[in-house]
Amino acid sequence: MAGLWMAGMMNVSDDIAAVREARVGQISQEIELQSKVKDLEERIGRLALLNQALWELLKSRLSLTEADLETLARDIDLRDGIADGRLTAIAVTCPTCKRINNSRHAKCLYCGQLFEKEMFA
Ligand SMILES: [Zn+2]
Repeated sequence: MAGLWMAGMMNVSDDIAAVREARVGQISQEIELQSKVKDLEERIGRLALLNQALWELLKSRLSLTEADLETLARDIDLRDGIADGRLTAIAVTCPTCKRINNSRHAKCLYCGQLFEKEMFA
């Protein structure tokens, strides 16, 4: 009888160890994800700073306006066929050389063919 009780306690002990191990794994993943988020936030902050510096440099040197920037941003946004305020890359086939390009580009990287907006719709 005592043997059965001991066997039962060992199963409980194994279950607790398995739960503890799973929880340690979850915590480890959470720490890793928090680290990645922090790294991404730092990179986004750096990119935003450089983007702002570039814009202010171009605006002053080339006499550009906020409207110029907005117009171009809208045009680039529409390259993937979706006006969502984001630069979403999709694969597009060049109508001239038939090679695959990234929709972020206004022209084919291989042959220089300018892409028509309909191509991305
Ligand atoms: Zn091409």
